[in-house]
Amino acid sequence: MAEDRKAEVCWKAAENALVFSFPSSRGGNYLVGVYEKSGKVCVVHTCPASSRGYDCWHVYKAAEYYGIWKGKEISPERIISANKPVTLNPKWEQIDVPGEKNKEKVDIPEIPDEIFALVFGEEAS
Ligand SMILES: [Zn+2]
Repeated sequence: MAEDRKAEVCWKAAENALVFSFPSSRGGNYLVGVYEKSGKVCVVHTCPASSRGYDCWHVYKAAEYYGIWKGKEISPERIISANKPVTLNPKWEQIDVPGEKNKEKVDIPEIPDEIFALVFGEEAS
């Protein structure tokens, strides 16, 4: 099965941070975070390659998207990567994947009001 090496979803997590959801050829998705700090572009995620210490295509693709978003070239020597998991945050704002065709919005599940009331009692609603 050919792997589609594109992000499906992009969230803006901060002024200098994006998070991408990349499809896995085995099903599911990898969440990849990229942010700029002290002149470096840091890419954080876990996947089978990164957990063995390899820099996989996720790292370079996420850095490329980040560069498109910021309107500048990201040279490979500025990229550093870490094998750390990224957890979805409902506060992130979904934006179009930089340089890709627009996708439909994806909702991050939140606690429905009726369940919130069951957990926290009537005074919370
Ligand atoms: Zn990877």
